[in-house]
Amino acid sequence: MNVEELQRMVDDWIREIGKGYFPPLANMAILTEEVGELARVIVRKYGPQVAKPSDLDRNLEEELADVLWVVVCLANQTGVNLTEAFRNTLQKKTLRDSKRFENKQ
Ligand SMILES: [Mg+2]
Repeated sequence: MNVEELQRMVDDWIREIGKGYFPPLANMAILTEEVGELARVIVRKYGPQVAKPSDLDRNLEEELADVLWVVVCLANQTGVNLTEAFRNTLQKKTLRDSKRFENKQ
């Protein structure tokens, strides 16, 4: 699946099953919530926090996909083509950072 297909798939789901998008501000809040859930998984997997039993049903793969889902919703409802946007970001980062990490260890 490419990014265009991903955007279309989410749009189809939202229209058919979700019965429409939440407003952008609500989706921004939901994105923040999902990023928090992702952070919770990462800090327990790679950081010093110890998982509680209720944390064990959450996983990195699922939380990354949840974040991506809401990002795609926001892009769809605001008319952003993520394929073009990502190409532009890659170009921007390449121009800006082409020498930045040469001495990275
Ligand atoms: Mg989640």
